[in-house]
Amino acid sequence: MSHPRLTEREPLPPTGSVVGIDLGIANFLADSNGGFVPNPRHGRTATAKLEAAQQALSRFPRVRRDKRTGKHQRAVEKVAKLHGKVRRQRLDHAHKTALGLVREHDLIAHEDLKIRNMSKAPAPKPDPEQPGAFLPNGAAAKAGLNRSIMDAGWGVFLAILTSKAESAGREVIAVDPRNTSRECPECGHTAKENRPTQEAFHCVSCGHKAHADTVGATNVLRAGLVRRNARQG
Ligand SMILES: [Zn+2]
Repeated sequence: MSHPRLTEREPLPPTGSVVGIDLGIANFLADSNGGFVPNPRHGRTATAKLEAAQQALSRFPRVRRDKRTGKHQRAVEKVAKLHGKVRRQRLDHAHKTALGLVREHDLIAHEDLKIRNMSKAPAPKPDPEQPGAFLPNGAAAKAGLNRSIMDAGWGVFLAILTSKAESAGREVIAVDPRNTSRECPECGHTAKENRPTQEAFHCVSCGHKAHADTVGATNVLRAGLVRRNARQG
């Protein structure tokens, strides 16, 4: 799996299409047209194996590298190897997904992950002694592990998307994600009650129904277009 870096600008012809995307866990992303890009199955398998290997590694006492037993050392190497595999698979998936978006749309709006992460619990700290392992971080450590893997994947994806878009002469806009999941795209009513479940959006004011991630992506697109129009003055 090799991906030649686009170093030169190779502008693509305009498509007249704009899109908003919502990065998620159940699906890798949802778009404002009602489309979904699932997480790759092999990626889920590798991630589950990585989590199991990290669990196994966490049972060994924290000691200097030269004090590790053979078993401990093998557990460290297993985590490192699986980490590499997950990273390569995510990279491959990210390249394909980004390329598809850049080919089809002139403008792609996404949530600003920095703002999104500010409102989340503290991420687990990577353990400098054990690549891929995490230092204890209170009760959030285990739950945070999944998230940190996802967050890293999204960050890499957006970096790839931005780079490909730049080469192709496409526009990528990051927007403030607050309320994008709670605001009704039909009537503007904003309430957490609009989200009866994780997946469902059902506006309590006008009755609009849709997949919650599609609603998120639609609001992200709207915010992106507002920002672009403000910029163009
Ligand atoms: Zn509504």
